[in-house]
Amino acid sequence: MWQQKDYMSRDELQTVQLSLLKETVQYAYEKVPFYRAKLDEAGVYPRDIQSLDDIRVLPFTTKEDMRNNYPYGLFAVPMKEVVRIHASSGTTGRPIVMGYTQKDLENWKEQVARICFMAGVRDDDIVQISFGYGLFTGGFGLHYGVEKLGATVVPFSSGNTERQLMLMQDFHTNVLVSTPSFALYMAEAAEDMGFSPRDFGLRLGLFGGEPCPYNMRQAIESKWGLKATQNYGLTEIVGPGVSGDCEVVHGMHICEDHFYPEIIDPATLRPLPPGKDGEIVFTTLSKEGVPVIRYRTRDIASIIPEPCPCGRTSRRMSYITGRTDDMLIVKGVNVFPSQVEEVLAQVEEVSPYYLLMVHREKDYIKDLEVHVELTEDGFTDSFRELQKIEEKISGRLKAVLSVTLKVRLMEPKSLERTTGKARRIVEKNPAPTPQS
Ligand code: ADP
Ligand code: ZN
Repeated sequence: MWQQKDYMSRDELQTVQLSLLKETVQYAYEKVPFYRAKLDEAGVYPRDIQSLDDIRVLPFTTKEDMRNNYPYGLFAVPMKEVVRIHASSGTTGRPIVMGYTQKDLENWKEQVARICFMAGVRDDDIVQISFGYGLFTGGFGLHYGVEKLGATVVPFSSGNTERQLMLMQDFHTNVLVSTPSFALYMAEAAEDMGFSPRDFGLRLGLFGGEPCPYNMRQAIESKWGLKATQNYGLTEIVGPGVSGDCEVVHGMHICEDHFYPEIIDPATLRPLPPGKDGEIVFTTLSKEGVPVIRYRTRDIASIIPEPCPCGRTSRRMSYITGRTDDMLIVKGVNVFPSQVEEVLAQVEEVSPYYLLMVHREKDYIKDLEVHVELTEDGFTDSFRELQKIEEKISGRLKAVLSVTLKVRLMEPKSLERTTGKARRIVEKNPAPTPQS
């Protein structure tokens, strides 16, 4: 059964991985001119892969490589074998296009079913999918995985918040699939309609597509009364189904028999040991449509060295703390939104809603303003009180980041809500040359 694949012995898994890795490299070399050229240029041949560590001799693939091959340049099969197309949501530029063969879809379904099962979804659950359906991999990815598992899918897609809530109640939905931002927004919307989200009877949430910082997770759990789990994936590799929380909710088990993970230092490109944060790199081990070798995800995470108490043998990755391309250089200091987020999470008077307003002058950042919403309880008419909160936040930010950021407190519910991924960085004067 597919659930058993997360319990293979490490030896058995590594044997499977090595044989699939050899096949993948050979296959990519033969079928995709881009990989052939890249390997030739690096003087590396498929036969050089004799152990899993040999993966390190292979060149990396970047987001630029994917964009330069838009739309079908990296496809390894003729279009008649491609049965589905997806594309990245384009959070950071032009979309990246992926093609799936029948076998790819079968594998993907199973990967997502495994992730959902680990998180605690069972066949008698009613699962509302509030990820967008369309080119975005989230909706369709979860859809077929949940069906494979045997639970009931309510394919709502994103948006239409009030109707979602109404049907959630009528259909006795007990599991929600969405971005964390949308889960929080829906809870607020329910409250605005005069309901208590807890009365909806959701027991489990599967959240992904964007980071879910600790205070956001707590807010979602306490509002809905559900258990929040996270899962991770990206279009370039497959979509959702790459990794996910098990019932222990302490890091996401990777479907290692399909995706080979590495963590590298994004500056030196050297491998980093388990426990160290770096850029996560994936090689697909079973993809037919678009095999991907050493893809630099730009996502920051680590491999958790300890085995998981749940008994599964697949390794876990930590939650994503940020993207390398989200890094902002302010007065010579590197600032990640996740660092700001962590500071804000410790401040009682503010909510998980925030954004970073970037003021650019030519090609450098002149100022970075942190806009953060007060909670209903934190809200006050007293100017002095508000000033005190602002000072507290900017003081703590300074202590962590060694740079002074302006803090602007916003009224409760004044920042934009989203039904998809939250936009955390807003450019006041967009950069003259678009960033890739
Ligand atoms: P885009 O890059 O346009 O958003 P995708 O829709 O493919 O394209 O989204 C994949 C990205 O979403 C990942 O690279 C990662 O940055 C983010 N992501 C997905 N799942 C998670 C998660 N559980 N935690 C944090 N970030 C996530
Ligand atoms: Zn586990």
